[in-house]
Amino acid sequence: MTNVGILGFQGSVVEHKDMLEKIKEVKPIIVKYKEDIEKIDGLILPGGESTTIGKLLMEFNLKDIIIDKIKRGMPVWGTCAGMILLAKDIVNDNIIHLGVMNITIRRNGYGSQLNSFITESSVKEVSPKDIPLVFIRAPYIERVGRNVKIIKKYKDKIVAAKENNMLATSFHPELTEDISFHRYFVDMIKDSKR
Ligand code: GLN
Repeated sequence: MTNVGILGFQGSVVEHKDMLEKIKEVKPIIVKYKEDIEKIDGLILPGGESTTIGKLLMEFNLKDIIIDKIKRGMPVWGTCAGMILLAKDIVNDNIIHLGVMNITIRRNGYGSQLNSFITESSVKEVSPKDIPLVFIRAPYIERVGRNVKIIKKYKDKIVAAKENNMLATSFHPELTEDISFHRYFVDMIKDSKR
């Protein structure tokens, strides 16, 4: 069994859980307390509101333990607000949350005109066919540091990237029917256990 944690404070928690349940030999575990962290092989940080989730990480004393686990190699995947939590640098915010991934991001990067949209596009790293990409007041990545692999650019903006055990997407695969990204993350976890 692969135990995949989902940070359970706020945002699209249930949607990630539903996706993981479609994958054989994967058990989703909602994470809220320190004890939960010991049970998991990888962690999803869902979308929602990064300021709120960041505050709750502190209040529940989870911040340091999650940073430590990630630094020791635990696979982590941040979607949307989750990506903001991972970033070492945010151009339009003073608060850095987990600050583990070598990416510079812009919150609400698509502004108010086009703040939410859905498109279909190819992400060769995860699927041979085009997949739906759902952006909701999404951030994008302005710059990546060394060791960061760009997984997807959409209209010249970086919207998915990977650095060792860390995966970040601007968009929300859990709000689609396409399971490629969840499979990809589960494979990252399996590889890390080898
Ligand atoms: N705009 C939100 C933030 O800055 C992220 C939106 C989302 O996760 N869908 O935290």
